[in-house]
Amino acid sequence: MKHRNLNRWIAIGLSIFFALIILGGLFTYGYLRISELSLYAEHLTEELAAANVSFSEKTDALSMRAFDLEQKTVTLSDTLYTAEQTIENLRRNLEAVQNRLGGFEQTVGEISGAVITLEKLSKTDPELLQKYSKVFFLNEHYAPERLVEIHSDYVYSDRSIQQIHMLVWPHLKDLLDAAKVDVVDVYVKSAYRSFDEQASIKSAYTVTYGAGSANQFSADQGYSEHQLGTTVDLITTGLVGELTGFEKTQAYEWMRKNAYKYGFVLSYPEKNGYYIFEPWHWRYVGINLATYLHEGNKYFYDLEQREIDEYLPTIFD
Ligand SMILES: [Zn+2]
Repeated sequence: MKHRNLNRWIAIGLSIFFALIILGGLFTYGYLRISELSLYAEHLTEELAAANVSFSEKTDALSMRAFDLEQKTVTLSDTLYTAEQTIENLRRNLEAVQNRLGGFEQTVGEISGAVITLEKLSKTDPELLQKYSKVFFLNEHYAPERLVEIHSDYVYSDRSIQQIHMLVWPHLKDLLDAAKVDVVDVYVKSAYRSFDEQASIKSAYTVTYGAGSANQFSADQGYSEHQLGTTVDLITTGLVGELTGFEKTQAYEWMRKNAYKYGFVLSYPEKNGYYIFEPWHWRYVGINLATYLHEGNKYFYDLEQREIDEYLPTIFD
């Protein structure tokens, strides 16, 4: 019995022994395994840390790069702005230069215009646009610069020789030709008259009508105007060679409507403050002034001499 018990204890002891060995083995294995795992974990942690460092380095590098790029963008945009400013300044300078040039050209134009006007004025006889009155006459020795003979086709009487200012003639010819085109009979009865010729006509009238009447209704009250060589007395058919009655003719009507286009105006209209109504008596004052008078329904003697004088440089334009 004792022996059986012993065996049993031995078996138990052995079992315990082996169990302990196994447990020890397991424990050792477990311990080793845990160590190994923890080492591995440590290793992973290190790697992770390293990866983190590398990532953050790369991030830093990238952000540096981005900063760098931003700087460059700022610099470029500054440069661009400067360039734009320069271009704007250049444009302004160019504009200023152009303006100055324009002003210069304008000044040159104005100067040359003034020179032309002065040259024309120096060559234009100021008497041609002078107002004459009962108290202000042309000098008796005055004679126009150059006279030309009016072609006999335009003169009422074949036997009379009529002369006119050389520069007025082309305008008078245009007028008479235009009247002909409109089938209106207009002829020159009398044009340039010297002081002496005029004096003799006037004395004839003085004999006929008396001195008082002759002054008021002389043969032709605007005698100074005839002495200028720019003035004509017109006549038409059906008046038996007389000037009176001209206002009732188609020729007069045509003249009222068209004469200004050729630079001619009626010096002494009805109820003028100077002389009697002289519908036949037409004076050349230049197209510009004649047009101004026609459009304003004014007469030459209504204007101030100062205003008239402005038209002198362009009288023959
Ligand atoms: Zn006359």
